[in-house]
Amino acid sequence: MTSLPTHMRAALLEGDRSVRLAEVTVPAAGPREALVQITTSAVCGSDMPHYRSTPQALGARAGVIPGHEPVGVVRVAADGGIPEGTRVLVYHHSGDERCEHCVAGEPMFCAERQTLGNHRHGADAEWLVAPDASLVPLPDDIDDAMAALIACNFGTAFAGLRKSGAKEGDRVVVVGLGAVGLCVVIAAVAAGCSVIVLDPIAARREFAVELGAEAAVDPLETDPVEAIRQRTEGEGAEVVIECSANPHAQRQATQAARAHGTVLLIGSNNSMEFDPGVDLIRKEVRLLGTWIFKRHEVPAIFRAVRRMPDLRRLLGAPYPAARIADAFRAVDRGETVGKVLIDWL
Ligand SMILES: [Zn+2]
Ligand SMILES: [Zn+2]
Repeated sequence: MTSLPTHMRAALLEGDRSVRLAEVTVPAAGPREALVQITTSAVCGSDMPHYRSTPQALGARAGVIPGHEPVGVVRVAADGGIPEGTRVLVYHHSGDERCEHCVAGEPMFCAERQTLGNHRHGADAEWLVAPDASLVPLPDDIDDAMAALIACNFGTAFAGLRKSGAKEGDRVVVVGLGAVGLCVVIAAVAAGCSVIVLDPIAARREFAVELGAEAAVDPLETDPVEAIRQRTEGEGAEVVIECSANPHAQRQATQAARAHGTVLLIGSNNSMEFDPGVDLIRKEVRLLGTWIFKRHEVPAIFRAVRRMPDLRRLLGAPYPAARIADAFRAVDRGETVGKVLIDWL
């Protein structure tokens, strides 16, 4: 092992849409942990609530390095763990490694859950200490940028579409075309579904149509529920996948589902209003939540990525780490179409 630096660049959120690059100490790996040199991280829609919050609301999280989409190389391995030199993505939840959920590869349900960028330091830094159990070795044909897309957004989209039960020929509505929504579009088109998209940003709608969506609706111009009914013989869609986290859009998602349809919530917020009598019970709609992907889905995700070359179109040029403030700003403003990556080398 070559000698390690003592200090590193790391992002820190300061509240009120401020992120700064700080010089901090390189963390040391504890037992069953590895030290990973980050090559690529990425900014996620789910970083935005913390980015936008006040310094007071940020509280102790102000001292936690954000980011949960890390890709890099193991430089210090855990005893008996994934070896030094292995290229990895780091799964962003870890647990006690003993309970039934951890054993099942679903540490997000562990009572001892720790999440990168929240309970422990995250990906937006040159070095990351991660549990060995969270390391996912990368095949040679999955490059770092694609791995960062997989680490959260594509993995989430793939697992969500699977959970929805969407089948070839189904009408699938995708609400919200951030990077997750666009990943859902690509996966649903590849699965042979007829895809209708909703987003107020024209560039995102146009891109979704290029990716194979059959219709695109601006929900600020047109009543989206009416527009979906018109495109589905008055019935509504078999599957509606909500990626916007907008409470109004969540309600429209339940209204846009047909009888026996499925509404899958990916976009996360803490309140939702809907009419359970009309929009769930009397249509016998299934309302499901989904939270990233499970460790055991990783091999299927790698296979899916190889069949979906359009995913590459979501990957723009990465921002150099020195411009991390611009990267966060771009996601906050919805200025970019696709994934915002950060290059730490
Ligand atoms: Zn994410
Ligand atoms: Zn556990």
